[in-house]
Amino acid sequence: MYTDTDGVVFRQVKAPAGRRMILIFTRKYGKISVGSSVTEGKGRSKAALAVRPFTYGRYDLFVNRGYYDLNSAEVKKSYYSLGEDLDKYMYASFVLELAEKMLPEEAPQPAMLDLLLAFLASMERKKTGYLTTALAFEVKALSIMGALPVLDRCGVCGRKRDPSAEKGKPAAFSVADGGIICRECLKKKAAEEERNRTGQLIYTPKFDIVSIIMYFLKKPVSAFDSVVLEKETAGELQRIIREYISYYFDIGNLKSEGIITGQTVTC
Ligand SMILES: [Zn+2]
Repeated sequence: MYTDTDGVVFRQVKAPAGRRMILIFTRKYGKISVGSSVTEGKGRSKAALAVRPFTYGRYDLFVNRGYYDLNSAEVKKSYYSLGEDLDKYMYASFVLELAEKMLPEEAPQPAMLDLLLAFLASMERKKTGYLTTALAFEVKALSIMGALPVLDRCGVCGRKRDPSAEKGKPAAFSVADGGIICRECLKKKAAEEERNRTGQLIYTPKFDIVSIIMYFLKKPVSAFDSVVLEKETAGELQRIIREYISYYFDIGNLKSEGIITGQTVTC
């Protein structure tokens, strides 16, 4: 069966006989591996350009017994130039890799594709504060994947949050409990941790994590073109969200990581 779809190229993997597998996040089929004899190399052909990572393209495929083969391809929009700025490239690579790991195989997720495209477009326009835009992607991706942290009640006892009794911010954020937790539950957990040293991931950020997450959710990605979150806040939020994504999506280390740690936040 012949078909076509638009999509973003995640990466290429070398295959035997000079062939390549192109991992593409397609609109119609979700994340798929597409066999191709098009080589990236020095080729400047339309198809060779369209199978580079960071490319949004249109792909003509032949589908046979669950295998996808590339017939032809053309670039709709290339974000390859993000690679000209090292900082930009690092954050864009991180988000591309994260998106790849968060997506299941062969399950269409058009909202995630549109989010990824909005992220790449915003990164192209942005001059500084790339981590802020990466965070916007991460929070929105969690929402699309139905995995947003619990923000309106305690993740342990379920008691509804009372902002007036909390000096403007929730007591803590517990990764394993799926979101914010109240003061009483934090105390119990701290005592438990004292006894058992279970190494639970509980954070007590200096900022109101609920307000920041809601802010990211409400605004479109393009609104962050000119927004730069304060460095410490961005770094701490990144540690928390990253742990959270790791925990719920079973994502190990990412190749692009090490650059996006608290110590080396470069925004
Ligand atoms: Zn509680």
